[in-house]
Amino acid sequence: MTSDTPYPMTIDGQAITTDQTIPVINPATEAVVATAPDCTKDQLDEAVAAARAAFPLWRARPYAERQAALRAIAATIAENADDLMRLLTAEQGKSHADALGEIHAAAWWIGVVADQQLPETVTDAIPGQRSITTHVPLGVVGAIVPWNFPILLAVWKIGPALLTGNTLVLKPSPFTPLSTLRIAQLLQGVLPPGVLNVICGGDSVGPWMTEHPGINKISFTGSTATGRRVMQNASVNLKRLTLELGGNDAAIVLPDADVDAIAEPLFWAAFKNSGQVCVAAKRVYVHDSIYDRVASALAGVAAKVKLGNGADEGTQLGPVQNRPQFDRVKGLVDDSRAAGHRFIVGGEVPTNQGFFVPVTIVDNPPEDSRVVQEEAFGPVLPLLRYSDLDDAIARANACEYGLGGSVWSSDHAAAAKVAARLETGTVWINSAQGLTPFAAFAGHKQSGIGVENGQDGLLEFTVPQTIHLPREAA
Ligand code: NAD
Repeated sequence: MTSDTPYPMTIDGQAITTDQTIPVINPATEAVVATAPDCTKDQLDEAVAAARAAFPLWRARPYAERQAALRAIAATIAENADDLMRLLTAEQGKSHADALGEIHAAAWWIGVVADQQLPETVTDAIPGQRSITTHVPLGVVGAIVPWNFPILLAVWKIGPALLTGNTLVLKPSPFTPLSTLRIAQLLQGVLPPGVLNVICGGDSVGPWMTEHPGINKISFTGSTATGRRVMQNASVNLKRLTLELGGNDAAIVLPDADVDAIAEPLFWAAFKNSGQVCVAAKRVYVHDSIYDRVASALAGVAAKVKLGNGADEGTQLGPVQNRPQFDRVKGLVDDSRAAGHRFIVGGEVPTNQGFFVPVTIVDNPPEDSRVVQEEAFGPVLPLLRYSDLDDAIARANACEYGLGGSVWSSDHAAAAKVAARLETGTVWINSAQGLTPFAAFAGHKQSGIGVENGQDGLLEFTVPQTIHLPREAA
């Protein structure tokens, strides 16, 4: 089969193109960056068959060899960082600096994962018997990735899945597939055929994967609405599931917070990657006594921030990544304006070229307004007053999501006590968004099921196996 895309899929170690293709749009210019493959059902079957065929050999490889393979992936990503940076900015919209940051973080992350070990538990509790529990791979993992951090979030799945002996069929978002397809091409000579298959396609491909009988686990990152559909389909063969889903993280600013010191980090906690971060601060509750000072400090930071094409020198914030997301975020701003909310910053979304949404901070909108209740996933932030801490915590927790949150205070011990009362998987003190390969990341409530990162995340790609042996009497 042929197509004009220079970004083929990788199936069984081969470059595979398709008759149909999908245009990938640069969100800053709305020009087509390139076309990407549109995987057919037969091609998905081929990818799954290749992953199944590669599985017995890959799981039988010594652990140290799989560790070495991960380090080779890390090196390949790092060596190609500059080319990948340009591609990532073109398809995703983020600044060159942020794109490079994501790529280097991905290379570092997979190197750290390579050093991780699986536990082994030995029990002699039953007379005459020794029980040894190890953690064995599941088989073929289907990995599904969103468009906000295409490379980093793919690596979160590739690293632990391959290290633990699984093989993979990975699908990037059709909005941002090019850098992932390119990485798979670069890895064709690094990994045995069939171990890492990267496909790309339209809206049908995700559901085909989640109901595919040849896939044993789905590792999914995306919205809660899609996560529900994934869970439904995955029941077909009782697939194991990791779901990393949406969030509406609250930041609580205590009255003793150092306003000048927190203004910049609080701003970036909300607006980094143009607000398109699952663990961005999406609602900021500020104590009444310092509310006005925090509002004007955030406005001061916003005034200095450069919004533009990510490929331009000095750009800090790029556009929203795609047209449907732009329409959704604009809809939230329009809804606030129609409801008569006041804006501390922004409030108008121009509709000229590019999916640009200026930084928008809404001044104490009602708690039940859409801009507070919905995950914006864009550069729109409600700043909310509180006078009673218990009330602020209750409002923070009155949410179907439970992904992350943050507490801002000069008294770290007091802040930690507030943190422990938030019903979320991660809480930061005086920062937000920092995730590491060393610590578990898990959504509470409808922000997800399961864990990524840390040893808990590694174990999600395995199933326990216990062997009971006769034990010589002492
Ligand atoms: P999305 O759910 O629309 O899409 C995510 C991926 O799922 C894409 O690859 C998409 O093609 C695929 N998909 C779409 N429909 C599917 C279906 N029915 N079955 C299987 N796959 C399907 O999400 P998005 O808009 O790409 O990403 C934004 C969302 O992701 C936000 O809600 C954000 O909070 C969340 N997110 C969560 C995390 C986390 O770790 N918790 C990280 C990043 C983003």
